[in-house]
Parts: sequence; structure tokens; C-alpha cells
Amino acid sequence: MNASDPLNPAAAVVRPGDKRYPALSRGFNQRWIAEPEYVRLVRSPEEARAALGRAVREEPADPRRTRITVRSGGHCYEDFVCGDDVRVILDVSPMCAISYDAELAAHRVEAGATNWHVYSHLYPLYGVALPGGSCYSVGLGGHITGGGFGLLSRRDGLTVDYLYAVEVAVVREDGEAELVVATRDDDGDLGDLFWAHTGGGGGNFGVITRFWFRDLPEPPERVLLTGLAWEWDDFAREDFADLVTAFGEYFRDRQDPATAAGGLFAMLKLTHVSNGQIGLLAQVELDDDGAGEEAMAEFLAAVDGRIRPESGPMFAPMGEHAALAPAASAALPRVMPWLTATQALNASGENRCGKYKSAYLRRPFDRDQIDAMWAYLGNEEFTSYENKEALIQIDSYGSAINRPPFDTAVRQRDSIMKMQYQVYWTRHDPDEPAHIAWLRETYRATFAATGGVPVVGDRTDGCYVSYPDADLSDPEWNASAQSWATLYYKDAYERLRRVKRRWDPLNVFRHHQSVEP
Ligand SMILES: Cc1cc2nc3c(=O)[nH]c(=O)nc-3n(C[C@H](O)[C@H](O)[C@H](O)COP(=O)(O)OP(=O)(O)OC[C@H]3O[C@@H](n4cnc5c(N)ncnc54)[C@H](O)[C@@H]3O)c2cc1C
Repeated sequence: MNASDPLNPAAAVVRPGDKRYPALSRGFNQRWIAEPEYVRLVRSPEEARAALGRAVREEPADPRRTRITVRSGGHCYEDFVCGDDVRVILDVSPMCAISYDAELAAHRVEAGATNWHVYSHLYPLYGVALPGGSCYSVGLGGHITGGGFGLLSRRDGLTVDYLYAVEVAVVREDGEAELVVATRDDDGDLGDLFWAHTGGGGGNFGVITRFWFRDLPEPPERVLLTGLAWEWDDFAREDFADLVTAFGEYFRDRQDPATAAGGLFAMLKLTHVSNGQIGLLAQVELDDDGAGEEAMAEFLAAVDGRIRPESGPMFAPMGEHAALAPAASAALPRVMPWLTATQALNASGENRCGKYKSAYLRRPFDRDQIDAMWAYLGNEEFTSYENKEALIQIDSYGSAINRPPFDTAVRQRDSIMKMQYQVYWTRHDPDEPAHIAWLRETYRATFAATGGVPVVGDRTDGCYVSYPDADLSDPEWNASAQSWATLYYKDAYERLRRVKRRWDPLNVFRHHQSVEP
């Protein structure tokens, strides 16, 4: 029996020297490459429990490597899974079964399933969908736990708004591992454990093996998808100000999920000037009464129609999204079945290095924020910087997200936009420090009035835990009075800490920004 024989239990353990080791010891983000003693591929909840118990009992061979981490899709933005100090990676990606559980009256999804696996199984089999992210290959283990959102979220809410139960392998005080199922109906410690998985973030409490979702929404049969772009050269400062103001005001005023406009989702891709274009993607449900078409037309009139530069097709990829079919007609709204549109947007991008930051916005941009974005994107600051893959993405937000059906650990429930600062480069690029510096400076300048970060306050509402940013723990980059924990969790943090003390008393699950016991 050789090591890759599926009947050989050793096949599930990948150690240095195994040809699979280099691929399995790194993240999707090529910045994060670990040197664990082994990566264990976990194939069932019981195997997760046993593998966790065994890993906890083992003595580290190298005192510098002590962490046990969990991986689902491997898309973590920071080194929480693949850091230098990692001893064991428990990889649940082989667990991706999807079924209906009649006893719990809920769809059961194993934690290693990716977004695309979920979309392409839940919809064809059951006609329902999770309102999750546009990225194909993001795994549920991290995605759900952070509150996962996507193009259906203004219509249907966050993924966690449908979570009914979660199964987790946890480590007791005596070091033994056990499997626990916590549901929304539980009280006390179990109820707390469930709640902590509705926004508390991955890698904090145990190894999640299965999720159950109740009353999942039916996605639209068809959608209208628009992708367009403007030439950067056509923009003067005031045109840029008009664009971001129009986008913000449109979503400030469209917050009713019962309307077509309230379900319209858009992403404004404010790329660096070296990209050549600024892009816009938008999707709305196409219904029989024409409301979807009207909403898209009104949106385009309110944003594209309000600015001087003229739009056309998008030619270049922007961040995670490829250019949508660069034909002249691509700028026009196109009708597609929902699943086809979801596939068209797929949004994983290639495996490369990246650094990210985020912000929740309660209001449209103020003048200082606009001027800072213009200066850094347009090369008035950082004048020699060039990178087609440096951008600020502004996602529409709110509407159904701001009407949660029950109490969750996601506290940002009255924002109208969510920002994602992104910069990409290839591994071994000697300009890596410049890429990271550009992102840091751009972000600090945008939120200069509040210590360089989007504090929980009147205009902004902190940061998205699923877009983690280690700089939030560094006083050089976070000069506000609010800690990283407040920025992610607001008032939920103290309860999350109680859950941590109860369910991970040995602090087995830890990383740079894990919930502190
Ligand atoms: C290209 C790209 C596009 C994205 N698009 C979106 C989007 O549209 N919407 C959105 O909301 N987010 C988006 N994200 C962010 C994404 O939701 C997070 O990065 C998420 O944490 C990834 O989950 P993962 O399982 O793939 O990652 P992993 O790296 O496997 O895990 C991320 C974190 O969760 C923990 N974790 C993973 N699995 C488990 C488990 N089974 N039990 C316990 N802890 C676990 C890990 O330990 C780690 O701390 C995107 C990310 C990328 C890279």
C-alpha cells in the first residue's frame, strides 16, 4: 500500500518530503507558507475529533512551532492558518457533502465545501442558495463564521442569518477532544457557542465540521448583470468626487429589501491610475413586472449618468474580478440565469500575494476621504508607484443585511457600504514593501480624522473580521483609541471572550487576532 492509496490511513497525513507538502502547507495567498510537522486531511467529523485530540497530546518537535490550525478553503488574508509558528494544519477540505437533514429541518453542509460547491449543489438539488461571496474557492469554514456576504445579501441578508446549527470539535480542559452540536434554540453555554459562530470569526473555538442552514432563500431565476468602465484619463478630481458621492448616495437612499433597488448589489472598482480604467459591476433580480430592469436603469442613470466621463466596456481585470466579456455589448445589462451569472463573476483571481484592509461605512464619503482616495489612486501621493492590481473596492451594503432575523455576532447592521482595500503582486516581487506601504498609507490617509482606521462611530463602523488586517493591532497603523477587537466585534467582544473561556479553555485555537480568553 503506498502513501497516496485512499485505503491507507497514512494517506491523510502529509509530512515534509511528501510531494503534496509544498502545495498543502501554503495558503491561497502566496505570502503565507508554513512548515508544519504535518498537514492532516480530515474526512469525517469523528476523524476531526480524533485528529484534534491526537494533535493536542503530541509534544512539538520544534519549540518555535506550537500552533494547531484549521483550514477549509485556505483563503485567509493573514497568516492565521499558515504562519511560521504552525505545528499542525487540520485541513477539512475533503469534507464537502451537502444534504437535507429532515430531523433538523435544515440543509446540512460540511465545513470543507467551497462557495461554488455550495451554489452548484444547493441550487440544482433544492432550488435554494446561501447569500455568500462571489469567490468560487472560498471555503465555508472561514466564510460562514465571519458572517459571509455576497451579491444576494442586500436582497437576502448574510449567510449567518440562516445558520441554524453548527457542529464543532472542541478541546476540554482535560485535553480531550469532543464533538458538540450547538443550535439556535439552545440556551446557556451551547447557545453561546452557536452565537459565537454567527460572526465570531474562524480559528477561535474549535474545528467546525458541519453547518445546518434553515429557511434558505430562493435566488432569482434570472438576473441582469452589468459590467462597465470609465477611462482613468477622463477623470479630474471633481469627476472622481461626483462618482463616489453618487454611488454612496444611491445606496444610502435604497435600503428597502422589498424593492428591486433594495436588492441591487454593486461593486465600484476604484483602481490605481496605472490600471487605466475604473470599473463598475452590478446585479439585480430580473422579475416579471419590469422592476429589476427599471432599478438597473435608475442605478446607471444615478451613477454613470451623473458624471462627466463616458463609460464603455471593461477591458482589464480588477482585483478578484476578471473583465466581463470585453465586447461592446458587455457594458449593457445582460440577462443570465442566476447560477450562470454567479459563475461568470467567479472572482477568485489567480493565486498570488495580497494585502487587504476593510471599512464599514454608515454614510456616503466626506470630502477628506474622497480627496485622500483621489490622491493615492491618482498618484498625487506615492508618485512613483505603479500597480494595475492596486484598488479600493466599494461594495453596496445594508438593506436585508440591516434587518437581521435574530441576534448574531455580526454587529455592523446599519452600514450602507463596505470597503475593501486590495493590492496584489507576485511572489518574489522585489517591490513587495512598496505594495504594502501603498495600501497602508492609502488607508491611513482615508481615515486620517479617526486615527488612521474606520472607528466605530458616526460615519464609519469598524472593520470586517473576514478581511483580517494584522496592522489593526499595531499602534503605528491604528492610532485610534479602539483596539482591533472593538473594530471587528464592537460590543460583542466580551461575550465572545466568555465563549472562548468556556469552549477553548486551553487556548488551543489561536492566532494574531484570535479571541482572547
Ligand atoms: C479571492 C477572495 C474573495 C473573497 N470574497 C469574499 C466575499 O465576496 N464575501 C465575503 O464575505 N468574504 C470574501 N472573502 C473573504 C473570505 O470570506 C475569508 O477569507 C474566509 O475566512 C475564507 O475562508 P476559508 O475557509 O477559505 O479560509 P481558511 O484560510 O481556510 O480559513 C480562514 C479562517 O477561518 C478558520 N477556519 C477555516 N475553516 C475552519 C473550520 N472548519 N473550523 C474552524 N475554523 C476554521 C481558519 O483557521 C482561519 O482562521 C474573499 C476572500 C478571497 C481570498
